[in-house]
Amino acid sequence: MNAENTSRRAFMSRLGLGALSIGAIAAVQACGKGGGDAPKCDDLTGVSDADKATRTALKYVDNSADPAKVCGKCQLYTAPEGGAACGGCKVIKGPIAPTGNCQSFAPKAA
Ligand code: SF4
Repeated sequence: MNAENTSRRAFMSRLGLGALSIGAIAAVQACGKGGGDAPKCDDLTGVSDADKATRTALKYVDNSADPAKVCGKCQLYTAPEGGAACGGCKVIKGPIAPTGNCQSFAPKAA
C-alpha cells in the first residue's frame, strides 16, 4: 500500500465520520427537540401573520426562564394530543411547548 492509498483511505474515513455527524444532528432536529428538555415548537405552518405577531408581542419562548411559570402550569394551556410534543394555547395560535412561557401566563388554580 502506498502513501497515496493510505491518504485516500484516511480521507474517506473522515468523510464517513462527517456524514454520520450530520446525520445525527438531522435526526435530533427531526425528532422535534430543541435545547435542553424543551420541545421545539416553532413550526408555524398555517399560522396567520397576525397570530405570529401576537406570538412575538407576548414574547412566547419554548423554554421558560422560570420553572414555576411554564405553559404546562398555565390555565390557558391545552395539552398535546396523540403523543405530540407540543400543545396549544387559548391566547397564542400555533404549537406551544409545555416548558414554554409568555407574558400572558396565568397560573392554574391550586
Ligand atoms: S398564555 Fe402564555 S404561558 Fe399560558 S399557555 Fe399560552 S403561551 Fe403559555
